[in-house]
Amino acid sequence: MRAATNVGLESREDCPICEQAKIRLVSYVFGTRLAPSGVCVTSDQEMNKLARNSRDMVCYVVEVCPNCSWNHLARSFTVQPASQGQRSRLP
Ligand SMILES: [Zn+2]
Repeated sequence: MRAATNVGLESREDCPICEQAKIRLVSYVFGTRLAPSGVCVTSDQEMNKLARNSRDMVCYVVEVCPNCSWNHLARSFTVQPASQGQRSRLP
């Protein structure tokens, strides 16, 4: 979860545990042609690029506090290939 402090998107919510920092949202993508540990995605462009080259991708959005390292899975969803007309959006 160390990646969060560098690449996470800052949210407007305070950490519910320490209340010292805004929680960050980090997106990890898992798919058949991607690294087994998942790929950390930080932009819509990256997401669309991955979606073009891989099928059956699943995105996990994790909330992370850079201050106390609290984290939890916010949501997960299947990434639709860009060719199907649905753009993949980060939160
Ligand atoms: Zn915290």
